[in-house]
Amino acid sequence: MKTLIEARQLHVRYGMHEVLTDISFRVGSGDFLAVVGPNGSGKTTLVKTLIGLLKPTSGSILLEGAQLSNSSRSVGYLPQKSSYTDPRFPATVREVVKTGLKHRIDQHHEQISRVLKLLQINHLADKRVGKLSGGQQQRVHLARALVGRPSLLVLDEPTGALDPHTRECFYTTLQKHNQEHGVTIIIVTHDSHAIGQYARSILFLDRKVLFFGTMEEFNQTPSSSHYFNHAHDEGAAEC
Ligand code: ADP
Repeated sequence: MKTLIEARQLHVRYGMHEVLTDISFRVGSGDFLAVVGPNGSGKTTLVKTLIGLLKPTSGSILLEGAQLSNSSRSVGYLPQKSSYTDPRFPATVREVVKTGLKHRIDQHHEQISRVLKLLQINHLADKRVGKLSGGQQQRVHLARALVGRPSLLVLDEPTGALDPHTRECFYTTLQKHNQEHGVTIIIVTHDSHAIGQYARSILFLDRKVLFFGTMEEFNQTPSSSHYFNHAHDEGAAEC
């Protein structure tokens, strides 16, 4: 598998406080990587560093072999706790999705319509986002992250606020993008069921790398049975 993104000996600090120590791993093009670890283990810090929102104190990130800051490839990002709770929030679905494009010229109208259709929210295009359900809002965020046709999609605990059925639909949509459109996925999640079902690789983090490898390799480690104690295969959801 061709390497899409690689972290080399990353160290990240907030002030004097080092949160990530000597993090190295590589993610192949088309991979589905789950980033797991206890609260405060540095998962959010890591994904923010991977997409260039935080600067490492040392080490580097290569996206398709180029330094992240020099890379022209787009990365889609779904941050934690992204919801619009105020029904009066003035932006429509189409307007929110448009902010995911680097150059917002009118020719992008079709690109936006395409992604809305793909995520089955085209009928909501002119609705205010604050009036939508949690599951619909999450699709809007996903549409915003996907509209620029990124080769890499980074998601930070995207399903926390969703009910089990909507959550399953969300993962099914992600899997479709991964398998049919070749989008590489890096997802931070506590959802061991989804990891067992969808992830191909796993990065176990606690300020440093505790495990990095394929799910097959992880399943042979003693900690995996403890981790996946409650995981079971429920099959793909009808959405
Ligand atoms: P996780 O996502 O695994 O819960 P985080 O990356 O959010 O972990 O946090 C890792 C550590 O860094 C925690 O101890 C947290 O308190 C600290 N931290 C996170 N963000 C900041 C910040 N902006 N300033 C200072 N410390 C922070």
